[in-house]
Amino acid sequence: FFNMIMMGVTGILNVYPNIAKGLESIYSVTEIVFSKDTEEYVGTKKLDQVRGEVSFKQVQFQYRESNKHVLNNLTLDVRPGECIAFIGESGAGKSTILNLLIGFYKPTSGSILIDGVPMEELDIRRYRKSLAVVLQNNILFSGTIRENIAYGLKGITDEQIWEVIDMTNLREVVEGLPEGIDTRIGEHGGKLSGGQRQRIAIARALIRDPRIIILDEATSALDNKSEHHVQNAMKRLIQGRTTFIVAHRLSTIRDADRIVVMSKGQISEMGSYEELMARRGEFYRMKALQA
Ligand code: ADP
Ligand code: MG
Repeated sequence: FFNMIMMGVTGILNVYPNIAKGLESIYSVTEIVFSKDTEEYVGTKKLDQVRGEVSFKQVQFQYRESNKHVLNNLTLDVRPGECIAFIGESGAGKSTILNLLIGFYKPTSGSILIDGVPMEELDIRRYRKSLAVVLQNNILFSGTIRENIAYGLKGITDEQIWEVIDMTNLREVVEGLPEGIDTRIGEHGGKLSGGQRQRIAIARALIRDPRIIILDEATSALDNKSEHHVQNAMKRLIQGRTTFIVAHRLSTIRDADRIVVMSKGQISEMGSYEELMARRGEFYRMKALQA
């Protein structure tokens, strides 16, 4: 599980114990290795209802153990419900942006505002309850389907579990298992296919009805049918919620409201798919290289 988390969100292994506040709503706290490298959020402001407006104001960021800025003057205003796809070369700072949004680290300077409130003023535990984080590939543990979906939540009914199973088109799969939702899915969910695991992870996010979604999209290819199911489940999840996604799939990139092309810690281009293609700039060249 550590390895997978490590692949998903860079730096998750440097989480200070107190930073784990509220993380039970997104991961299992026990699955996070603590160190003293990160700062603590001590704010107390509780947002009643997160709308999902997110603003990055001149955010600079440097990992403590490194001497270079990983994010440089990042400014970005996101409307509630908007879907932002980050793309760009490896090391550009995409996962770091997700780390900051979850509150694993604080910006070195500048700030991130949620519904107009600086993150450092927020009660981080409460804020995290409005987040769902879906990381790359495998984020399941060896419990039952029910435990994997309801993780950290209390009083979840069978009906609620089945509702998200239906939303992710997993009913047939789960009904085919010997003990239905109480079937143990093996180490890291190994009894399920890659696409099924991704959909369970999406179901886990859906049942939380989050306002903000943070996704580090899996790079591994799935067969066409699984891909189709995962795409549909993802669309359900993203619909009407503010979404930040490190995108690898072309379909995700096309569907995003805005694509943010990152390069060396800065935004090098930004716009819808059509706008960026029409501009014939960096995004267009990247697409041309892929084709
Ligand atoms: P991307 O997700 O775009 O590939 P990252 O945000 O993971 O980029 O990384 C941005 C830069 O920060 C890279 O140079 C990476 O080596 C560095 N980096 C990432 N995590 C850490 C860390 N925990 N400590 C020090 N440097 C890091
Ligand atoms: Mg990354």
